[in-house]
Amino acid sequence: MNVLLRNIVKVYEQFPALEIEEWSIKSGALWGLIGPNGAGKSTLSKIIGRLEAATAGEISYDGNPYTTQLQKEMTVVFQKPYLLRTTVWENIAYPLKIRGYGTKEIKNAVEDILYQMEIGPIMHQKSWTLSGGEAQKVALARALVFKPRLLILDEPTANIDPAAVAVMEKMIRRANEEAQITVLMVTHSLQQAKRLCKEVAFMHRGKIVEAGPTEQILYHP
Ligand code: ADP
Ligand code: ADP
Repeated sequence: MNVLLRNIVKVYEQFPALEIEEWSIKSGALWGLIGPNGAGKSTLSKIIGRLEAATAGEISYDGNPYTTQLQKEMTVVFQKPYLLRTTVWENIAYPLKIRGYGTKEIKNAVEDILYQMEIGPIMHQKSWTLSGGEAQKVALARALVFKPRLLILDEPTANIDPAAVAVMEKMIRRANEEAQITVLMVTHSLQQAKRLCKEVAFMHRGKIVEAGPTEQILYHP
């Protein structure tokens, strides 16, 4: 999905948290959003994902203004996983159920993602019994299972074990390369941005101060 931002401003109690003149995410991109705490990364990702409204400015999605139909085509994964109080299987099936998929399609899609993410063995476990890494893998599985056109991740691998990070990075890369899902990922880790992102934007005090191909922005001689 192509996303174009123009003159986006977000003000919290008179304090401008975000001021983006123009920025575009091209369809098929895998962007990393980096920068110090408080730079505005979460605010920007929430505004693009329509979880928060901008104070001013415009965002277009494939050239059109936002409509509720787009809700079905994009999703956000947070640092802290939000899961339904049911089993892993039901959590992952849920986005397909609300989109009207048939029983057979749901079963195939859920089994496929359970296998790819190495969470088959925990499919009957209740969400509140999972470890942090397992819960975050389930949150990503639930986001990927319906093949959104835009995937927004806000520090999805913070505080989880290296094995789970590796699986999540593999799945994010595969989603982008094989399913052509457009990805925007906030990350604290420059190493992760280097491993995964094709382009990075560096934010500071509410502005994007540098943006471009990862090897140019994160180049260290
Ligand atoms: P980052 O994700 O880069 O750490 P944030 O987008 O969370 O930055 O925050 C950007 C700025 O906006 C910070 O100064 C933060 O304190 C402020 N901010 C974020 N959310 C709120 C809120 N709900 N109310 C007031 N200020 C906020
Ligand atoms: P078994 O213990 O024989 O492996 P399971 O109960 O684990 O049987 O699951 C049998 C099949 O039903 C699995 O292939 C699984 O994908 C599917 N399944 C598991 N849980 C659910 C569920 N909550 N709703 C629909 N199908 C499910």
